[in-house]
Amino acid sequence: MIFYKKFKIIFTLIMTPLSSIPALAIDPHSFAIPAEAVVQKLYLNINVDFGKKTINGKAQWTIKKSESAKEIHFDTKNILIEKVTIDEIGNPWKFAWGKEDAILGHDLIIPLKNNTTVVTIFYSTSPDAAACQWLDQQQTAGKKLPFLFTQCQAILGRTLFPCQDSPGIRFTYEADVKVPVEMIALMSAENPIEKNRTGQYHFRMTNPIPSYLMALAVGDIQYQSIGERTGVYAEPSMLEKSAYEFIDMQKMLENAEKLYGPYRWGRYDVLVLPPSFPFGGMENPMLTFATPTILAGDRSLVSLVSHELAHSWSGNLVTNANWNDFWLNEGFTVYFERRITESLYGKDFADMEAYLGMDDLKETLKEFEKTPNATCLKLKLDGQDPDDGMNSIAYEKGYALLLLIEKTIGRVALDAFLRKYFDSNAFQTMTTEQFLIYIEKNLFSKFPGAEKKVNIKEWVYKPGLPQNCPIIVSERFNDVNSQFQKWMNGLSPENLRTANWTTHEWLNFIDKLPTQVSMTRMTQLDSVFKFSSTGNAEVAEAWFLQSLIHNYTPAYIFMEKFLIEVGRRKFLMPLYKEMMKTKYGKELATKIYKQARPNYHFVARQSVDELLNWKN
Ligand SMILES: [Zn+2]
Repeated sequence: MIFYKKFKIIFTLIMTPLSSIPALAIDPHSFAIPAEAVVQKLYLNINVDFGKKTINGKAQWTIKKSESAKEIHFDTKNILIEKVTIDEIGNPWKFAWGKEDAILGHDLIIPLKNNTTVVTIFYSTSPDAAACQWLDQQQTAGKKLPFLFTQCQAILGRTLFPCQDSPGIRFTYEADVKVPVEMIALMSAENPIEKNRTGQYHFRMTNPIPSYLMALAVGDIQYQSIGERTGVYAEPSMLEKSAYEFIDMQKMLENAEKLYGPYRWGRYDVLVLPPSFPFGGMENPMLTFATPTILAGDRSLVSLVSHELAHSWSGNLVTNANWNDFWLNEGFTVYFERRITESLYGKDFADMEAYLGMDDLKETLKEFEKTPNATCLKLKLDGQDPDDGMNSIAYEKGYALLLLIEKTIGRVALDAFLRKYFDSNAFQTMTTEQFLIYIEKNLFSKFPGAEKKVNIKEWVYKPGLPQNCPIIVSERFNDVNSQFQKWMNGLSPENLRTANWTTHEWLNFIDKLPTQVSMTRMTQLDSVFKFSSTGNAEVAEAWFLQSLIHNYTPAYIFMEKFLIEVGRRKFLMPLYKEMMKTKYGKELATKIYKQARPNYHFVARQSVDELLNWKN
């Protein structure tokens, strides 16, 4: 047992050794034993200290325990515990540390009295808490004030607050958050729409959520309403651009409700973060966190908002029981996302996204050729960081399965099934096995022969892509293909018919470039279409990747700038991976990463560190 000695421990009564407690409960990624003692409600009272880059205060948990339970287990990682109290008693109470694990963190054990209902933990985060990214003012768009945002999925919540960090455990919360007076705080809860003079903000989330959906952002942020229940938050200099891009949010919300039932979270807002946000978006309830790299200027990348919004049903309402069932969150969400996109922008637009998704999936399948089990929908991430399972398998193979079911039984039947699935499992968790029973009973049993045609168990438990995977066709990409062939036959870029192309068509075009393209032709493409200097992050990344493959060095200076500014992991990994293939590329990667690393969030740093074998 280790206490954090450097911290002032007011009271340190170490318990007698805690024998006979299983190290891990049902969720292999949490120390919690919910069958014995489980959290139900949180009151968080915290102070955000930009000087020390810490968050300190108390997490007061209302708990429910079995009669025989003698203690409660919390997940923590890199958190300093000041003291613990129980019930109404203000005196410090005893606590102990159980197992410690490099991935899972440290099991915090608090003994309970027979009638204990409240446990309060006074704590402080560490300046390098993985959930928190502290940006200095230079790393923001406005460059005036620093910024903090959190990212808790998958198991980083335990670095932000002591919690039972399993997607299977839900709680409601209220929070009082103190921040510097010139900033505003926002959470995955009912949010303020303007700054106040005190720097004190109160939050309430009345629906029970799992810990990975806790979220906090603090900075110079303003709000603009978009529709009755929708709006956007961003740094002042990004606000107008963001509101323009997300103009369809209200319609998205209404169309989503038409598909799968009422939105149960009150408001739906989006917060556009600084560029170092490691993901495209994070479905924090009531307030999606989003990367600014989707601000393409032509609204062509707003499917990301459809995706995060769809999580308000698949994920936030019906939640994967643990990270091995991640496909239940993401596969369903991608399917739902594309249905929203189709309802707003047409089938031809949604088809392009499905096509690009399938391309991604095929790439991922190739990557995992030597570890095929990683390509099953149901994962076995025990002993691994669940982050390892967050690739396009869960998303795109999951989507392809739902598309196959749609094609087998028809859209009307699938829609009715999904609506019922979300309704009857609302605010509950789902394992893959429970889902298989549910779909058999509520769908396949009504369509003789459908189960055999779909063969769902092969999709779920076998690696790779089953033979019955639907073929995805995109008419708009057929058009791209004909233009591309003309270019291949020597037509110069300015004579190609590209006037109405959106991001997706450009991506499809760039991805088609053959291994051999002369320097002259690369230069021509770049000078006509301005790929190297484009403000569209998706197009830029695709072009930089081709530039690396073709040694098109004039693009490197733009790529360097891009990699230093943008921290979205999806863009970073392919570029660094490509650079690592050659000696010169390795040197370039090292040079760029040295400068870029401080701008990246923990999850992006972790991935690139591993790739580059980076030692601090
Ligand atoms: Zn998602």
